[in-house]
Amino acid sequence: MSTFDYDLFVIGGGSGGVRAARVAAGEAGAKVALAEEDRYGGTCVIRGCVPKKLMVFASGYGGMVEEATHYGWDMLNRGFDWQTFSGHLNTELDRLEGVYRKLLAGSGVTTYDARARLKDPHTVELSTGETFTAKHILVATGGRPVRPDLPNAHLGIVSDDIFHLEQLPKSILIIGGGYIACEFACILAGLGVEVTQYYRGAQILRGFDDEARGLIAESMRELGVDLHTGTNIVEMGCYRGEDDDGMDAPVEATQYAMPVSDAPREGPLKVKSTNGKIKVFDQVLFATGRRPNSDDMGLEEVGVTLGRGGAVEVDEYSQTKVPSIYAIGDVTDRVNLTPVAIREGMAFVETVFNGNPTKVDHDLIPSAVFTQPELGTVGLTEEQARDREPIEVYCASFCPMQSAFADKPGRVLMKLIVSQESRKVLGCHIVAPGAGEMIQLAGIAIKMGATKEDFDRTVAVHPTMSEEIVTMRKPTRTA
Ligand code: NDP
Repeated sequence: MSTFDYDLFVIGGGSGGVRAARVAAGEAGAKVALAEEDRYGGTCVIRGCVPKKLMVFASGYGGMVEEATHYGWDMLNRGFDWQTFSGHLNTELDRLEGVYRKLLAGSGVTTYDARARLKDPHTVELSTGETFTAKHILVATGGRPVRPDLPNAHLGIVSDDIFHLEQLPKSILIIGGGYIACEFACILAGLGVEVTQYYRGAQILRGFDDEARGLIAESMRELGVDLHTGTNIVEMGCYRGEDDDGMDAPVEATQYAMPVSDAPREGPLKVKSTNGKIKVFDQVLFATGRRPNSDDMGLEEVGVTLGRGGAVEVDEYSQTKVPSIYAIGDVTDRVNLTPVAIREGMAFVETVFNGNPTKVDHDLIPSAVFTQPELGTVGLTEEQARDREPIEVYCASFCPMQSAFADKPGRVLMKLIVSQESRKVLGCHIVAPGAGEMIQLAGIAIKMGATKEDFDRTVAVHPTMSEEIVTMRKPTRTA
């Protein structure tokens, strides 16, 4: 007979926490509770992957209408209505949150709509004042977007806010060059917003394959994104210009000299950048990274150690320095992707409740950036691979049939990185419409250790874009 209230107390109702709670209760038969202070479903379902992907779909239709007319369709595009879309989006998110709650209840998990703190290695204290003891505690509190430290940064929005906008801005400045910045630049441009993007480095999407990054940047510019690399925001303020007749009109620096008022946000914003210019935008979006949600949880007080940026330090089994406390997902800042958090949750249950110590395999994780076109990637970039061993690089870049027919610009890229010695495909990078779907399948072959010759033995599916993956006979270069 357990002396604890619960076998497992999960803090955080996002993808990782909910999966771990459900499997521990439903399959391993544990007595499980879960506390969530906000909405069930977490970042992915409520303010991340899901609403973002629905916005990706929404933003694609405008271009499709244009393309369809080349194919003979008589279509009229009367424009995009944000209110209609966001109404449907909210209904869908309510539905999904309901599904998450039902799944937890159906598995026998007790839920508390409250914030939780650790009191000791086996005790959780809720914002309601209740305390509960548990044999194991799982911290799955995720992360949150951060604004850079600059004057008046509070006037800008972060990705969480996008889904709650009452109306779409006419113009927006996006700061950053990572996943979120590039995805929203494409989404908002597709919805008709005038998008400017400042990225401090030389090329967007740092860490991805250089050739793919270059093609995405080129495609984003073709889409209408005014992308400035080597540029960053210095400071910002409310724009109070009286003669302002356009949202993107440059303003004389002397006329609106910084520093500016930090009055509550109203109207357009003026932004000073590293090139000394001041420009005016309806909205500024900071997509400048995320931080683990580990503050004020009593973690360090009970002996859990926090690393860089507040990430909870864990071993390969997601166990913290305190044996009864585990952590999974973005709060550990390992690979910050929903399916990884779910895997970590499943491995935790296997380890702790099924007596089968299971490490999470963080190698060769396929992922996609939902830009237009998408970037799908798995394994090593050309730059990473050539630093490790001699490689062959196979590349095909071409105008895809569907858009070429409609006289639309834009190329796609299919790229394989192959080990000269083992012949294994070390990396695959695809820039193309639907690359997210393609890379999932290529990822299986690469995870299995497929060689270039295995790819070559596979018959092409014709006519498709991805057939190039199995028809590239001669290396483009060796390195
Ligand atoms: P990223 O870490 O990917 O990108 C942050 C960007 O902001 C980088 O370009 C960084 O520049 C820049 N930056 C950081 N600090 C500053 C600053 N002070 N001033 C100006 N620029 C700054 O974070 P995201 O927020 O885009 O995404 C977070 C994570 O969420 C991703 O890493 C990914 O794991 C996950 N995610 C996954 C998605 C998917 O799977 N499709 C979609 C969205 C998010 P620099 O490169 O120079 O550091």
